[in-house]
Amino acid sequence: MKPIKQRLLTPGPTVVPERVLEALGKSTLYHRSPKFKEIFLEARKRLKKLFRTEGEVLILTSSGTGAMEAAVTNLFNPGDSAVVVVGGKFGERWKELCETFGVKPIVIEVEWGKSVRLEDIEEALKANSDVKGVLVQICETSTGTIHDVKGIGDLLKNYPDVLLIADGITAYGVYDIPTDEWGIDVGITGSQKALMTPPGLAIISLNEKAQKRLLEVETRSYYFDLKKELKKQQSGQTAYTAGVNLVVALNEALKMIEEEGLENVAKRHERLAQATRAGVRALGLELLSENPANGVTAVLSPKGINGQDIVKIAREKYGITIAGGQEHLKGKIFRLSHMGYVDIFDILTGLEVVEFALYELGYRNFKFGDSVSAAMETYQNL
Ligand SMILES: *Cc1c(COP(=O)(O)O)cnc(C)c1O
Repeated sequence: MKPIKQRLLTPGPTVVPERVLEALGKSTLYHRSPKFKEIFLEARKRLKKLFRTEGEVLILTSSGTGAMEAAVTNLFNPGDSAVVVVGGKFGERWKELCETFGVKPIVIEVEWGKSVRLEDIEEALKANSDVKGVLVQICETSTGTIHDVKGIGDLLKNYPDVLLIADGITAYGVYDIPTDEWGIDVGITGSQKALMTPPGLAIISLNEKAQKRLLEVETRSYYFDLKKELKKQQSGQTAYTAGVNLVVALNEALKMIEEEGLENVAKRHERLAQATRAGVRALGLELLSENPANGVTAVLSPKGINGQDIVKIAREKYGITIAGGQEHLKGKIFRLSHMGYVDIFDILTGLEVVEFALYELGYRNFKFGDSVSAAMETYQNL
């Protein structure tokens, strides 16, 4: 039997609320029109509030990786070195971007599921006096793990030439992140995760220190020329044709976040994350992460059961798309997202489908509903 409904519970793209879809479906505006300019400036203003920054926030037309690439090509000269935290798939992406553009990565390997140790970052900085930046994820989505970016920011107060560049693609809009206060010089996110908008926009913040660096570096990108974008976007324009409909949609999603209140948004994500963790633990399962994130939960598959089979049954039999593991974690974990337009009932549904799949695969040391009642109890008490 084929499922009659499809549900998306992946850590990006995430479900888009109807309000945002309606905004997306409006007639396309001319990107140089006064009307679009007004919306564009409004969206930038809302993003500054979301990032809690006095710096600049730019909207780029690309997936999130575009902003990561823009950071590397606009803020480092060839031959510069950068400390790179590699604790998962997205940390690897920072390393690969550095290698692609002639930046020397000083890699701190972190076991997948663990958080980087601040001592290791300090050691790398002390051993390499020419370091120009630290590249890290706030949340490493592939493992559902938080890195202590605030701690890194504190550490970097003693290193005025080092930029802290934080990929917060599954952190902004999940947590209330005070970009300036934490010393994040460059913060990055994308439209399709906690910002409840379809894929296609990347967002990058630049504080004064980062803007100063921009002027010292000759960019190696034509499309992602941040100096050019900055100048244009300050006046409500973009260098090239903006993703007009996506910007209109993003502006609506940001309005929703504003209406709920960023603090409440963060609290909701925390409650949903805790409910999810309680739910899977009630099935006798363990989390991969020693420091689990509030946007996505990575769960170790029980012995003898391939995580990909859980994902496959969920999708094919029940119409529910959850995520598996990446690279060497493929088959070993599955991931439940609770990021963006998500409430407790989405969480309960996700747990139910995990129960169905586990049961079908022969893992049966639980009663149907065990995870759901644990999740409800936890949620109720928070
Ligand atoms: C999703 C994600 C990205 C960006 O991926 P794109 O597919 O380019 O949007 C980068 N970093 C993290 C941590 C992510 O979760």
